[in-house]
Amino acid sequence: MTASPALLQSLAALLGPEGHSTDQDVIAPKLVEWRGRYRGTTPFLAKPRTAQEVSRLVTLCADAGAAITPQGGNTGLVAGQIPEGEILLSLERMQAIRALSPLNDSVIVEAGATLQAVHDAAAGVNRRVPLTLASQGSATIGGLISTNAGGVHVMRHGMMREQVLGLEVVLADGRILNSLDTLRKNNTGYDLKQLFIGAEGTLGIITAAALKLAPAVTSKVVAAAGVESPDKALALFHRARHHADGLCAFELMNRQSIALALKNVPGLREPLMLAPPYTVLLEFERCGSNGLEDGIEALLADALEEGDILDAALARSTAQEHALWKLRESLSAGHRTGEPQANHDISVPVSETPAFLAAAEQKAQALVPGARIVAFGHMGDGNIHLTVMAPEGVAEFPREAVLRAMHDLAVSMGGSISAEHGIGVARREELTRFKDPVALEMMRALKATFDPKGVLNPRALI
Ligand SMILES: Cc1cc2nc3c(=O)[nH]c(=O)nc-3n(C[C@H](O)[C@H](O)[C@H](O)COP(=O)(O)OP(=O)(O)OC[C@H]3O[C@@H](n4cnc5c(N)ncnc54)[C@H](O)[C@@H]3O)c2cc1C
Repeated sequence: MTASPALLQSLAALLGPEGHSTDQDVIAPKLVEWRGRYRGTTPFLAKPRTAQEVSRLVTLCADAGAAITPQGGNTGLVAGQIPEGEILLSLERMQAIRALSPLNDSVIVEAGATLQAVHDAAAGVNRRVPLTLASQGSATIGGLISTNAGGVHVMRHGMMREQVLGLEVVLADGRILNSLDTLRKNNTGYDLKQLFIGAEGTLGIITAAALKLAPAVTSKVVAAAGVESPDKALALFHRARHHADGLCAFELMNRQSIALALKNVPGLREPLMLAPPYTVLLEFERCGSNGLEDGIEALLADALEEGDILDAALARSTAQEHALWKLRESLSAGHRTGEPQANHDISVPVSETPAFLAAAEQKAQALVPGARIVAFGHMGDGNIHLTVMAPEGVAEFPREAVLRAMHDLAVSMGGSISAEHGIGVARREELTRFKDPVALEMMRALKATFDPKGVLNPRALI
């Protein structure tokens, strides 16, 4: 589905000089994915300003038989936002906060606003959107909804889906679906907005969203605890959940992930003197009365006494909190060294995380003797970002075989091959290996109904 010169002229006339570009130097940064792993092409960058402009643009493309790839902040990790000849539709000029209501605990925001901008606006009225991820300075509301993003507070607040009250979406034939209400209860038939959440831009272009607001956090405790094994981490997780109120993040980091981050990312510090085999980053939050810190100290003291943890440290200042989180957020960059590797975003039932990690190590070593295993992530959700790296200096690496083996393992344990990053282009083939055939049929039927001409992100997901 290529765009004809006549279509490009009509799009340029529709959007005006501010609203488009065909200059490849201007477009270039949008054609390469964050890690440089995927590069794309497009004849035309569209930057509409309103939902009506998006609607007219989609109608023109649909009539001309040209496909569109929507893009938000270009932080996606499965390449669904990188066009391969399609029109590139950036939401970057649609960033307005249309309404902010502390009394209704809701915000209506355009799809191109970054999560950080929404956090800042909510903080201004003593509220927050309880979704936190390292890419929030660039990731947009439209992208976060389209990938149903997760992050570090999912165990307490849920994924992006849980934050969405309503959506405004431009459909593949240009119609605008207005489902932008801010109701908590609205049982009037099919909840259509749910279909667009996690659809990766294949069913419609999200132009605005109504999101829930939560009360601002009044006290927070961030701590690091060292454990000797994932089993001990699991024990600590349940201890923390049951004996302390407000556990909102429980992030596991294996030694290799920390060692590589300390080596390759400047300005990081080892959080615990013992440099334990596994370090857990815990965060607790409270909205209301204080006294959180004493309870967490007692919890960790008990865990130490009973042998669940080897060591622990509470952050005593905002700077120390930031240092702990900076280490966690630098783990990806730590092993993004250009060396051969296979990255995974798997989830398993939380109870299976230790068994998964043990079996993954075994399988990886069988395929790649001496492999370096980087394992970290949102253990409180059973979501591990597992990377198998070639031994230092070894160039040969059976990437596909490793990917398949890790996915086979996760699924055999009741898990998923994509916990939070989505399918995009990168995992599309793997999806067909694992998704229930009836579910796949229904997904294809939905795509055919919503987008019979294949206008919207035709290479992603399904
Ligand atoms: C350092 C780093 C840390 C990260 N941490 C996490 C994490 O903890 N949890 C997590 O879930 N993800 C994480 N991610 C992945 C990424 O930030 C998320 O997938 C995010 O939701 C993508 O948002 P975006 O605006 O950048 O979307 P893009 O990357 O631009 O697009 C992502 C997908 O959404 C589609 N899309 C974008 N906007 C729209 C729209 N308005 N309408 C329809 N479709 C649209 C695109 O076509 C594409 O398929 C991380 C990424 C980085 C770089």
